[in-house]
Order: sequence, then C-alpha cells, then structure tokens
Amino acid sequence: MTHPLATQPTDRPTASEKYAGSRHVGVLPMGCVQCREGAKLVLFVTGLCDKECFYCPVSRDKMYRDVMFANERPIHPGRWDDLLDECRLIGAKGAGITGGDPMVVPDRVCETLRVLKAEFGPSFHTHLYTSCAFDLDDIDRLKEAGLDEIRFHPELREYKDMENSWHHAAIERALSVGLTTLCEIPAVPGKEDDIVALAAYLDSVGAHGLNMNELEFSDPNIANLKRFGYTPRDDESQRVAGSRETGLAVLEAWKERSGRMAVHFCSSPYKDAIQLMQRLRRRAERTARPFEEQSEEGTLLFGAVRSTSGESPANWRSGCGTTSRCPLSGSSWWTTASRPPPPWPRCWRRRAGSPRWARRRGFPRSTRRRTGLRSSACPWWPRPPLPTSRPPAPVRAGP
Ligand code: SF4
Repeated sequence: MTHPLATQPTDRPTASEKYAGSRHVGVLPMGCVQCREGAKLVLFVTGLCDKECFYCPVSRDKMYRDVMFANERPIHPGRWDDLLDECRLIGAKGAGITGGDPMVVPDRVCETLRVLKAEFGPSFHTHLYTSCAFDLDDIDRLKEAGLDEIRFHPELREYKDMENSWHHAAIERALSVGLTTLCEIPAVPGKEDDIVALAAYLDSVGAHGLNMNELEFSDPNIANLKRFGYTPRDDESQRVAGSRETGLAVLEAWKERSGRMAVHFCSSPYKDAIQLMQRLRRRAERTARPFEEQSEEGTLLFGAVRSTSGESPANWRSGCGTTSRCPLSGSSWWTTASRPPPPWPRCWRRRAGSPRWARRRGFPRSTRRRTGLRSSACPWWPRPPLPTSRPPAPVRAGP
C-alpha cells in the first residue's frame, strides 16, 4: 500500500527535524507545515464540547459557550466579512478549525468551509479537530464542503483499544473519503506505551500521522494538573515536567519500529517562538502604518515624542528639534533642543516586555540581552520625584 501522502507534491523535509525543541519523523502534514509558517488562521467555531478532559486548555470565557473567534477576533456566525478580513490580514494560506468540538455544530462548520473555499480557492488548506462522537455521514458532508484534513482526539483510556472505540469507524470513514487523517493528543507524562500503541494502530489502518503536543499548565487546567501530581518543568515556563521526555521517547520508539506514518512532537516553545511569532510577523507586514516598524518578534514599534519645555506640539517641526537615530531599529526620532537625544525610547521598553517575558517565549539570547538594556532609565519619562516628607497621618474620628 502506498503512503497516501506520497501523491502530494512536496518539497518538505522528510528527515527528523528540530524547531525550538519540536521534532518529527516522516512527512509533516500540511496542517503542521502551514502552522509553522504562521499562515494558518485559528478558527474557533464553538466552545461547546461533550468531554471534560482534565488537561483541557480552553479558556473559561470560551469553554462550553457557543462563541466564535478567528484569531481571537469575535465572529458572528453568518456574518463572514470579519472572518475573511482576518484571513486577509495575516495572508492566511489555510485555517485550523477548532473548539470546543466543532462537530457539535456541523452545519456551521460546513458553511464556514464553503465560504473560505469560495473566497480563497481550493488550495486554501483546511483542517479540523474533533473529539466527540457524531453522525458518520457528516464526514462526507465535510469533504464535500472542502475539508482537507481531520484530526481526531481520542481519550487517554482509548489509546490501547482503538479498534473498539467510536473513533475506529470515523477514522476508516475519513480515510475512505480521501481526507488526510491524523490523531492529535497531548504527550501525557508516563504514557509512552499507550501513545506508541495508538501510533501503531493508526499506522495499521493507513492513517497519515500522529501529532503530540507538549502538555502545558494554563489557567483552566492548573488545578486539575496539580491534583493529579503534575509539576512544572522549571520556574520560567508553563511546561509540564516529563511531557517532553514522553514525546521524545515515543519518537525514538517509532524510529526503531520504522513506522511509515508521520509522528510529530510539537513543543511548547515552538508554539510561541515559531508559530505565534510568524503569525505576528505576517500580520505586521500587512498592517504596519508608515511610521511603524516591524520588530524581530513581529510586534510594531512606534515613537512617543513629548515636549519637555511646555511648547506646543505644533512647533516641534519648526526647526527647534534635532534628529537622533534609535541604535536598535535605526529609525529617526525627533527631539526638542532642551534635552539630549534619548538613548532608549520608552516604546522599546514597553513593547518588548521584560527579559523574563522574552525568555519564556524562547526568543534568542540576543533579544533577551537587548530587552534587558531597554529597562535602563529613559530620559523621556523621568519618574516623578519621590516625596521628601511623609504626608500627614489622616485624622481618625474618635469613639
Ligand atoms: S475534547 Fe478538547 S475542548 Fe473538549 S474538553 Fe477535551 S481538550 Fe477540551
């Protein structure tokens, strides 16, 4: 049997590859490739879901609520202009449809798929995550509406017994209609054997891949994870200790078995340092105004110019100012003559955040060092002088 992905045109690497701790074996599915480029719109179609996974990372303001977001932008079902606008803003090449469980609202999903395909054409790649049981005929409807890839999320207890779970029939149906079919699960520490069993099952039925996400602490799941004894990997990140080791152990086991199917371990820093940063960059390229500059991280930088002498801003460009260059971005800043040029504009400090902020997101060391420099005193925004004497104590009313 030939590998179903072998028919797809690809110049993608097939060897094990490393991006911010993320690794894979085999041909990476198109959903992951576009995600890496930041070219995937994250389309949250509903927060409704039948399951109560202990590691669920969906925020409380979305979970179990029928709300819709495109990259955190609220969308009203049926009013698709905002959705299409969001796609254009990031130059999306595809969309990942997620929730909750999107298959709780299959009609909405099909309508969304049709709208996206009609606007951006058949090459606009769409993939969908689902966990709950649904009518198997909906898989045919999804395919007709233009879905390219489906990712099932079985429960932990099902990994070793997939043949007897509902997902078995759904996976076979998805493969039979020609959808790229994967499973996507968290790399739960200590569950290597279960995950390898799941991979072996998927390989045996001709599925295209298994994607493992590094388990992370987040506001919605922190209480559950602590209750079950999971601990943070270090003081600086939200990664769960042991999750990475589990993912890499599965990859090693998969290499030894010479499995045909793709297995991918998606690390937590990869999501921030590669996926999110690329998405920000794409948006910045399309939305930057003439006076804004795109930073290395994809944020937009602009200067804040203030008068130190009380003069009207209308006079600033009348010849009284001097121009200096920002040493990091190379952009010009107008200053008034009453102060020397500022070494570090305040915008740099505010936009980039603290060194710890940068370290958590896996930005390179050079960026961290620079953000540290930015915290030096800025002549533009001197702190107000500290009071020289304590204010008088308030007079209390007597009994
Ligand atoms: S299936 Fe997904 S959305 Fe539903 S509870 Fe589990 S992790 Fe959360």
